[in-house]
Amino acid sequence: MPYFKKSLGQHFLVDKNVLAKIISTVNPQVGEVIIEIGAGRGALTQYLLETKVKLISIEIDKHLVEYLHEKFGKNLDFEIIEGDALKINYEVLFKKYGKFRVVSNIPYNITSPLIFKMIDNRDFIRDVYFMVQKDVAERLIAMPGAKEYGLLSVILGFVADVKKNFDVSRNCFRPVPEVDSSFVSIFFKDLELEEVFFEKFKRIVKAAFGKRRKMLRNSLREFVPSGEEIDFDLSRRPDSMGVEDFVKLTRMLWKNVAL
Ligand code: SAM
Repeated sequence: MPYFKKSLGQHFLVDKNVLAKIISTVNPQVGEVIIEIGAGRGALTQYLLETKVKLISIEIDKHLVEYLHEKFGKNLDFEIIEGDALKINYEVLFKKYGKFRVVSNIPYNITSPLIFKMIDNRDFIRDVYFMVQKDVAERLIAMPGAKEYGLLSVILGFVADVKKNFDVSRNCFRPVPEVDSSFVSIFFKDLELEEVFFEKFKRIVKAAFGKRRKMLRNSLREFVPSGEEIDFDLSRRPDSMGVEDFVKLTRMLWKNVAL
């Protein structure tokens, strides 16, 4: 099968029980709009189409796009976009279809940028269901103090509730990857959040976790000029800080964080 040669390194889901479990977790309803990122050989595509949703699949590999087109093209509920999920203009899709849902057995090499892309487009998205590496799932749901707790936990935790639904053995994929996976869901919160605030918040969190073992006094030096007193314990380390602590700190350092 010539189509698939280019996709080496990608891991295709082959276990029907897992595919069925994904569908029952996502619980698609007739007429809903779902965007599937990285449709591959269409294993999940097939199951999603059976639920009678309007499905828009995004796939970067031209050979797989041709294959998917041949396989599902006659289905009027199916649309395929050949392109990079990191570069798609999701606002255009929102304007056409309204708020949509996102489902993906994601290409693991783009995990973090794809999560950030979803965060940036959260106003257009109802919920997100991602198959990610198990260790990434642990990072997404980690609480302060845990060794997995970091940048992604804080930034995603600020804007969304994240849930790990179930783990998936590496044996459910072909070729078999080196790690196990987890199926997570992301529900964006209904926040009145100004973009400028969120940008400053992200800058502070990134600087703090950029020097994870250092006290905030050191890692946030660019925002806290020496001699400036603020009402916050800067001897703390970032992994002890909850989302609310970073929110408080953002308010305090507001004028010092340039964008
Ligand atoms: N959904 C299929 C499954 O579950 O078997 C395939 C999953 S495979 C892990 C990831 C798919 O994403 C591949 O088909 C790959 O070509 C595609 N892909 C990789 N990077 C992409 C990107 N930036 N945008 C869209 N699709 C991408």
